[in-house]
Amino acid sequence: MKEINHEKQLSTGEQQELSEETLFVVSQTFKALGDPTRIRILYLLFDREYSVNDIAEGLDLRQSTVSHQLRFLKNLRLVKYRREGTTLFYSHDDVHVMDVLKQTIEHACHN
Ligand SMILES: [Zn+2]
Repeated sequence: MKEINHEKQLSTGEQQELSEETLFVVSQTFKALGDPTRIRILYLLFDREYSVNDIAEGLDLRQSTVSHQLRFLKNLRLVKYRREGTTLFYSHDDVHVMDVLKQTIEHACHN
């Protein structure tokens, strides 16, 4: 991908308008990150996969709550799962959004 000079682009107005679809996906993505429970779930999934049960126990949440939020995140393709017998193991499915989450957590913690 071509290196972009954002500052120059912003100041010269060369930047193309965002498409409707891009705007939709970006706002949905921030909506996904705009919920404390979903943030906790995604943060847990940073380094490894977890079963729904493990997530519920690890975060002290009801299993139905975790399943509901995982479905939301799955629809946006931010998490994926693999099935082992009757157990679903969830992991994150997008390095960009995990990076946004990491950056935002660092932003929240710096002075
Ligand atoms: Zn910052």
